[in-house]
Amino acid sequence: MTMRLLPLLVLAAGLSGSGALAQDGAPVFSLPIACEPGRTCAVPSYMDNDAGPGAKDYRCGSRSYDAHKGVDIRILNYPAMRAGVAVLAAAPGKVRVIRDGMEDLSIRDRVGGTGNQDCGNVAIIDHANGWATQYCHMRKGSVRVKAGDVVKAGDPIGLVGLTGNTEFPHLHFMAWRGNTVIDPFAYGAAAGACSGGRSLWSPAAAAKLEYRPREVLGAGFASAALDMAGVDAGNITAPTRNTALVAYVRALGLKAGDTPLLSLRGPDGAAMADTLPSPLPRDQAQRLTFVGRTRVPPGGWPPGVYRAHYTVRREGRIVLERQFELKL
Ligand SMILES: [Zn+2]
Repeated sequence: MTMRLLPLLVLAAGLSGSGALAQDGAPVFSLPIACEPGRTCAVPSYMDNDAGPGAKDYRCGSRSYDAHKGVDIRILNYPAMRAGVAVLAAAPGKVRVIRDGMEDLSIRDRVGGTGNQDCGNVAIIDHANGWATQYCHMRKGSVRVKAGDVVKAGDPIGLVGLTGNTEFPHLHFMAWRGNTVIDPFAYGAAAGACSGGRSLWSPAAAAKLEYRPREVLGAGFASAALDMAGVDAGNITAPTRNTALVAYVRALGLKAGDTPLLSLRGPDGAAMADTLPSPLPRDQAQRLTFVGRTRVPPGGWPPGVYRAHYTVRREGRIVLERQFELKL
């Protein structure tokens, strides 16, 4: 009787709180981070669903890398990390273990590697029925739970950081069933399958984590040419009527054959600058595109609204688009 009753009791407890369990005892996950996918964060890498040396996400798309065991949710830049983006418990449970104290530092600058601490500052939470979740790369000093703490779904447990084996501030989220890492987008799917399985996300989280083959992570205007490190660092000064005028877009998940284009138009609607259409020779996990004018006209840029239009075209169709504007 106990064996039969236990899941029912846990189910009842789960439903009375803000988390729930599916009928087979698998947890239901809420969004594990306080950001808006598609606007203030993005999923640069899903779990690798390919057993071989290549990488495929759960839709057999390119948005993973070899042997990636988890889901990455990346925030805009370093200033967002410093401002603080909360990492949230995805389901009710009890904290098994934490680590805090590692410095926030890109792996590119981490002399001597991570010392086997690739996950950086981390919390692991045990859920019902042998399930657990793991939250990696949290900011130094931000982990606010300790082993034994009981948490509800949505409770803040720390902040997104840059600790362990990472090049940019993000949450690496893992779901475990026993000793097996599970893809929360496709639980039970056959290895290597391009569909099937079921989502462990709540309907609200699943809607926010809708699969995007490509997406924009950061777009705006700057007063000088940019590079990716500058975009990550948030070293972007807004243009004025007397500085260079540059529009930029960082896109994730572009594919070989995609053609990104960025154009800038002045207040009179006339084209000021356009990038050249050139299909990408290979897939690009992230790509920075910028366009603008550096020579300020006598008397400065005319006041008004400057409009930027970014498109990615493929076989004559727009597959990604973003428009944004600046008032001078
Ligand atoms: Zn990861």
